[in-house]
Amino acid sequence: AEDVEVSLLALNPNIGGPKNLPILESYLDDEECEAKKISSHKPRLVILGSGWGAVGLVKNVNPNDYHITVISPRNHFLFTPMLPSATVGTLEFRSLVEPIRRIVASVNGHYIEASAEKVEFQDRLVEVKQHLPDGSSRDFYVPYDKLVVAVGSQTNSHGVNGLEYCNFLKTIEDARLVREKVFRNLELACLPGTSEDERKRLLSFVVCGGGPTGVEFAAELYDFLNEDLCNTYPKLLRNLVSVHIVQSQGHILNTYDEKISQYAQERFINDSIDVLTNARVKSVEPDRVIFSQKNADGVAENKELPCGMCLWSTGVTLCDITKDIAASLPGHQRNKRAIETDTHLRVLGAPLGEVYAIGDCSTVRTNITEHIVEFLKTYAVKANVSIENYEITFQQWRDIAQNIKRRFPQASEHLRRVDSLFTEFDQDHSGTLAFAELTALLKNIDSKVTSLPATAQRANQQGIYLGRKFTKLARAQESLAMDEVVNKDIDDLVHRPFAYHHLGSLAYVGNAAVFDFNGYSLVGGLVAVYLWRSVYFAQSVSFRTRALLFMDWLTRGLFGRDITPL
Ligand code: FAD
Repeated sequence: AEDVEVSLLALNPNIGGPKNLPILESYLDDEECEAKKISSHKPRLVILGSGWGAVGLVKNVNPNDYHITVISPRNHFLFTPMLPSATVGTLEFRSLVEPIRRIVASVNGHYIEASAEKVEFQDRLVEVKQHLPDGSSRDFYVPYDKLVVAVGSQTNSHGVNGLEYCNFLKTIEDARLVREKVFRNLELACLPGTSEDERKRLLSFVVCGGGPTGVEFAAELYDFLNEDLCNTYPKLLRNLVSVHIVQSQGHILNTYDEKISQYAQERFINDSIDVLTNARVKSVEPDRVIFSQKNADGVAENKELPCGMCLWSTGVTLCDITKDIAASLPGHQRNKRAIETDTHLRVLGAPLGEVYAIGDCSTVRTNITEHIVEFLKTYAVKANVSIENYEITFQQWRDIAQNIKRRFPQASEHLRRVDSLFTEFDQDHSGTLAFAELTALLKNIDSKVTSLPATAQRANQQGIYLGRKFTKLARAQESLAMDEVVNKDIDDLVHRPFAYHHLGSLAYVGNAAVFDFNGYSLVGGLVAVYLWRSVYFAQSVSFRTRALLFMDWLTRGLFGRDITPL
């Protein structure tokens, strides 16, 4: 990157845009650029968000090609996979965060601590709101040439009443509040006047949601109770503590391989963590969780659990800005759960090549059928027959299915179904299937497989993809002939479409870890835990956070967890 001092941003004294708000002035004026020997005509790349997607992008785009501005109300990047470890003092909060300014400064970019409220596609403006300390706010527009929406998601309430009594686990502040509550409840339970029933209630921890976040929190809590509680608090407390997981599905970690979810469940039951499956939370009250659970006959029974702390981690939903963007592109956006993009991650319905969406707030409209037809075409060309007359062998189908599974792991189940249907057609797999028969089997697969997993892995891959593509785009625009730039799909011309590569899922389940690598599962104790740590250590965002993580693990090994509720 060029060594350029980043100027302070200024608002244009003239107002504009549909709401007549001040507009952010261009970044460096011509004179400044001249003095610093950089181009003042670089496109303005505006990125909404400071999470996995945004940081993946910032770290991979060439800063010499764009004026980069990151807008986010959160002034740090958060390493979410290890957030559950911070709730009981296994790791420190600062080890999981990296100031976004430091990341943005490395590309000579600007950071604005504010929320995006609306995108004006025609004017290429983002309406931004900055909350001021006196409770007021300041609204203005930020102009862009390229906009990337990476605003993530927010907690899904599922319409359940009483969430004001729950804790959440999405931000560093959430983790701090959980930690405070765990330690406060322990202290309250130790007070001389507290009755035994009240002690049991205070020390009853209920986790709503049996996905990775809920499971990892329960595991961390359980480790803390076993490893540190008895050394620091009266031993009597240990018998009063209980941890419950309320899960609406038949298993915890139900998106993982069945073997893994079974292992985790058995391990938890063995560890006396109460796993309540097929149970749906109806409401939360200050001192209890009310839920219904299906009995062996499939009849739902109403039950309740007294609780001192309830963690709500039952999935995510759209942020307001995401809803607004989708709603402002009617006729193009059909998905109710995310902004839809094409395979180049361009928002469908927005002016081509100007607005992109990545990470949890987005979904790629799948074109699995197209991919399969492409493969079939190559086979047909090789065999010198038309695609309509081509007969596919089982082995060819397996090769195609393997490739599709790698690109769209969420299609695995549907492809397996085709496998078994294929078998019905052809018991010994020695025959072939006509093109028409195969397409009939695959009918509607695209509408059935609509979204990629909402994970850091996906957001990061999409950020890296856009970073590399934008760099290529900037170069291509200099070298391509004007008619190519104007008349062709330039994204498609310079870079392949985004392909998601599922590298596996992992989860910590209390002195053991589980891995799911594309259908191959690995479960285990200490070795798996070290492997789990190494994966995250390697993925950590900076050398500073890696050093801090290492220190935390070392300190915990030597002195136990930090039990100060800071
Ligand atoms: P985020 O990382 O959530 O970032 C969104 C950003 O947008 C934030 O900076 C936010 O402040 C900002 N923003 C919000 N609204 C606005 C607005 N209006 N204007 C501007 N900016 C805005 N995934 C895994 O792959 N593996 C794991 O082990 C794993 N563990 C997890 C554990 C926990 C506790 C949690 C909460 C999540 C976990 N995830 C995991 C999921 C993963 O964190 C998300 O999928 C990932 O963060 C999505 O990245 P993103 O960039 O889309 O959004």
